[in-house]
Amino acid sequence: MQNDSLTGLLTFEDFLSMAGAAICDKSKAYMIVAADISDFHFININYGYDTGDDVLRDSAEFIGMYLPNTLFASRSHSDHFLLLVSIENVSYERVMNEVQRLKERLKENISKRVGGISPNINVGIYFVEDKETNIIAAVDKANVARRTSKGNYNIPCVVYSEHLMDIKENSAKILPIFDDSFRKESIRVYLQPKISSETKKIIGAEALSRLVDDAGNVIPPAKFIAALEKTGKIVELDFYVLSFICKLIRKWMDKGIEPITISFNLSRMHFYSPTLVEDIIKLAEEYNVPPEYIEIEVTESVFFEAQEMIVRKVSELREYGFKVSVDDFGSGYSSLSLIGVLPVDVVKLDKSFVKESLKSPRSGDLMKGLIRILNEIQLEIVCEGVETPEEEKMVNEYGCSEIQGYLYDKPIPTDEFETKYIKT
Ligand code: C2E
Ligand code: CA
Ligand code: CA
Repeated sequence: MQNDSLTGLLTFEDFLSMAGAAICDKSKAYMIVAADISDFHFININYGYDTGDDVLRDSAEFIGMYLPNTLFASRSHSDHFLLLVSIENVSYERVMNEVQRLKERLKENISKRVGGISPNINVGIYFVEDKETNIIAAVDKANVARRTSKGNYNIPCVVYSEHLMDIKENSAKILPIFDDSFRKESIRVYLQPKISSETKKIIGAEALSRLVDDAGNVIPPAKFIAALEKTGKIVELDFYVLSFICKLIRKWMDKGIEPITISFNLSRMHFYSPTLVEDIIKLAEEYNVPPEYIEIEVTESVFFEAQEMIVRKVSELREYGFKVSVDDFGSGYSSLSLIGVLPVDVVKLDKSFVKESLKSPRSGDLMKGLIRILNEIQLEIVCEGVETPEEEKMVNEYGCSEIQGYLYDKPIPTDEFETKYIKT
């Protein structure tokens, strides 16, 4: 066995043979992490090769410290590192936290060594699948993820998935359309009403975005959200939507119209920003919009990571007066015990509940029980995806009277929405 003389880590060849043997043991779970330092040559050229070497040596040391489950680590070449990490009995959340902390530590160290410059660390992860026994193919996948993460400052790392290739191709088409629309402020914001089935009156609306291509075709979120999340541009989109609704509410207030509360979707990516809470408050203040007219939808999966930091930021937003909802509740790994302690006002039941409840009595009972519990702990409940009077009747009987669904309306352009629902 030979070690890299600079860092003491394994050589690439030894890594391949040792990690290759390990991943063939299917009783264990592993991930491969590929990482590199952006613009490393810049450090070598401007601060000398000795400094560059110091940075690499420190980095090797930090890997062992911050990813304690690392089994094999190598410097494959230059500033590229490859690790095989055991993820036996380790949660996804913990892995992500460790990677994030390692990255921050590496950046901080480089910044100290070279006087303030803090290059991005690109990290790609491949969770080794059961069928994978070829170490070269596995390393390639971690590298595809690593390359995808380049230039994405808003995300800690990219996890390899089969879709990455599709997203990559799609991103190449979508991103220029987004950039162009963002610059021209021509992203469309549609509104979908939330209706009380008791009074048949509007009680709020959700803002949902649409892009439009050169030929005038409307592009739905399913085609662009993933690409924007991957590049961190989703943060720009969500703030665009928030500004848009602030302007709209301001306009209504200036005309003496009592506004309805409008919700917008806050992607998980925002929680990496240390100034998230201030940024949202600043926008509402800029337009002088009282916070109770703005509702922030955060999807269930973000909440159920239940990181202290996320719960704290959401609490701060709520304390300021914004409404907060858990979106898509029931679509993933919801936990009833957690819902009681989450700092939210509204639970939005995922569309799948309505569909499943009509199919099977057991699912119906589940939804009914859930609504009863949510009512008991005095959370506001909105049922999404209600499309027929029969579905509406069912959810009413279960105890939920707030409906968002095609039965009343699809998301529609703002001017159409105003004509229909707001007496301007
Ligand atoms: P979501 O937040 O769950 O939004 C509700 C989605 O359900 C919307 O799809 C809406 O058109 C659809 N929907 C509403 N009622 C019904 C119904 O009765 N039946 C069916 N089948 N669907 C219904 P849309 O507008 O295509 O948005 C899809 C997702 O994209 C949203 O799901 C949200 O997660 C995301 N998204 C949209 N705009 C934004 C945005 O500006 N920022 C972020 N971060 N995400 C967004
Ligand atoms: Ca939503
Ligand atoms: Ca939803």
